[in-house]
Amino acid sequence: MRRTIIAGNWKMNKDHIEGAALAREIAAGLARTPPSCDVVLIPPFTSLPAVTEAIRGSIAKAGAQDISAEDEGAFTGEISGRMLRALGCAYVLVGHSERRHIVGEGAELLARKLRAALRSGLAPVYCVGELLGERESGAAGEVVSRQIREGCEGLAPEEFSRVVVAYEPVWAIGTGRTATPKDASDMHGSIRRLIGTLFGAAAAAETPLLYGGSVKPESAPGLLADPEIDGLLVGGASLASDSFLAIVPR
Ligand code: PEP
Repeated sequence: MRRTIIAGNWKMNKDHIEGAALAREIAAGLARTPPSCDVVLIPPFTSLPAVTEAIRGSIAKAGAQDISAEDEGAFTGEISGRMLRALGCAYVLVGHSERRHIVGEGAELLARKLRAALRSGLAPVYCVGELLGERESGAAGEVVSRQIREGCEGLAPEEFSRVVVAYEPVWAIGTGRTATPKDASDMHGSIRRLIGTLFGAAAAAETPLLYGGSVKPESAPGLLADPEIDGLLVGGASLASDSFLAIVPR
């Protein structure tokens, strides 16, 4: 039985005071969330101490938006996996489309970040997804499988067992356009088959596959009802406690 994961990516929003207030509101609303559901708050680095403090004693977990590929040393501005673990993070995003396409992070760097996350005991949420032109030209499946191979191929099955995959079509992120449950489900099915080829049947059966892209309280139930969709990565709707809590199953 795969866990449900509902993760809120706050992106570059909320300072540590606003973040603590939002995290407290969310934590207070999770009393009826089933134990099979992980709720993950992913604030900016600077808010992580305040957010981890605010969610203490609740079922919510904390995640980071990025990680250094390196473990320690002369890497000005970088944050290591060990530092994130020390703050109480359980998850970290790797390869979010804004880092791929705005910051310009490439496949080789992302593969190293994913391994840095695993080395430090974090669960990487490895984000993949096609651009609009790639979907329209029929290349979506090819793009997503290439991204999975680039990031994950070569991991031992026990390492891969800690990876969460988030399928986020880039054309759906922050645009108000959500993939239909069928489109998301079809892509999740292809991702699961590829995981089976690379890491075996157990990995294919056990890896949580999240969908992300303009998820709102209205679209979440239809997406979560699909057996191929194990959870959601939520951006805009995670910035207010009422809309985020309306997405979390209870
Ligand atoms: C995201 O940031 O991963 C995301 C899916 O954003 P939004 O829900 O705003 O599209």
